[in-house]
This record gives sequence, structure tokens and C-alpha cells, in this order.
Amino acid sequence: MTTITISKEDYLKAIAEAEAEGQTVISATLAHWLSVTRPAVTFALKRLTKDGLVTVKADGIIRLTSQGRDIAERTIVRHHLIERMLTEIFGMAWYEVHDEAERLEHAVSPAFEKKLIERLGHKDTCPHGNGLAFRSVAERRKKGLVLLTEAATGAEYKVASVYERDRKLLEFFEKEGIRPGARLGVKTKNYDGTITLTLGKGQIRLGAAAAEKIWVVKACFPKFVNYN
Ligand SMILES: [Zn+2]
Ligand SMILES: [Zn+2]
Repeated sequence: MTTITISKEDYLKAIAEAEAEGQTVISATLAHWLSVTRPAVTFALKRLTKDGLVTVKADGIIRLTSQGRDIAERTIVRHHLIERMLTEIFGMAWYEVHDEAERLEHAVSPAFEKKLIERLGHKDTCPHGNGLAFRSVAERRKKGLVLLTEAATGAEYKVASVYERDRKLLEFFEKEGIRPGARLGVKTKNYDGTITLTLGKGQIRLGAAAAEKIWVVKACFPKFVNYN
């Protein structure tokens, strides 16, 4: 078995997650997602290609091989278990756990993983609403999810998932009352690209940069199980 270093797992997971967000994965995407330099990405991709974990075509698009996807998904599962452990057992806030899980996920042994599943029970999604249930934008849409930027005026929605790799964004969401499971109404779409939302008793105006990081589902969508 190939020995996987921390950064390899991080690269593979980032590729799988960027795909799940509908991004075309090229080296610039990874540099951005992992906050590393382009030369660092180039170097890592050489190793990953050599190890048969990714392929890079002439158009620069990076894809996981099935072996690469296996490792990425195992890491994602562990990442989400750690996030759930931190919120459900230790009571950490949902917007705080991602960074902690980034560090701890690599230390999870198969035995500990089994214990975590026994203790936490099976669930498809993490505290941010993300998970292997949503491997691609197509899968999200099939489950009734739409981006908040595409939501219909006058309709009621529930927040299904949010982009979780930006702590400042998550803190902003929390401050505004936007978290997975929260209900919101789309009041108006404004000329300046913002959306006016009704949330609880109040109203907020959200810019597109934040709105496009939120997947919502119609509050009455029949097939949508309460993930949170
Ligand atoms: Zn996370
Ligand atoms: Zn998460």
C-alpha cells in the first residue's frame, strides 16, 4: 500500500470537494482551495500522477483516478466524523469545527473511525450540510438543492449546506443567522445583485459573493430529509 502523507490526502480531498462544488479543477483551483503556491501544486501533482492517484489532461483539468477517489472519500468521511464529534459530543460551534477537523482527520485510525460511527450513528452530512451524499452539483440538484442566487422570489427555503473552507464567511453566516437548517424567505432580488431575505423576525441583504456559497432547498420539498 502506498504511504499517504498529510498533504497528499489534502490534495485529493480538495479535488473531490471542488468537483462537488461544481468547479473545474485546474492547478489554480487547488492553489486557491489549499492556500498554497502554484509551484507547490505543480510539484504535488507530479507526485500524485506518478502514484496513479490523479490524471492531468492537456487542457489542465485535474481528475481523480478511482484509487485517488477512494483515498479522498475516506478522508472526507473521517473529516466529517471529526466535525460531528466536535459539535455533537464536545459542543463546539458548527462554524468552528472545520479547521480543527482539517488537522485531526489524518490521525483517525480505522479502529477509531469505527468507534466514532458507533457513537455518533450514521449520517450523510457534516455540520455544514456537506457530505458524500453530494458528490457533484448534479447530485445536489437531483436532491432538490439550488444555489441561493437561483432561488425564486417569494419562496421559502431551508439552508441545506454552505461552503465550509472559509472561517470568516462561516462567522459572517452565523452572525446573520444563516446556518444549515435555518429557514429563510427570498423577499426581493435587487438591482445591485443583492438578495433581500427574511430570516426569523428580521431581514437581511446578502451580496452575491455570499449567496452563491449557500445551497438551499424549498422548505416544502417532499423528498428532502432533515439533514441537520
Ligand atoms: Zn470541514
Ligand atoms: Zn463540514
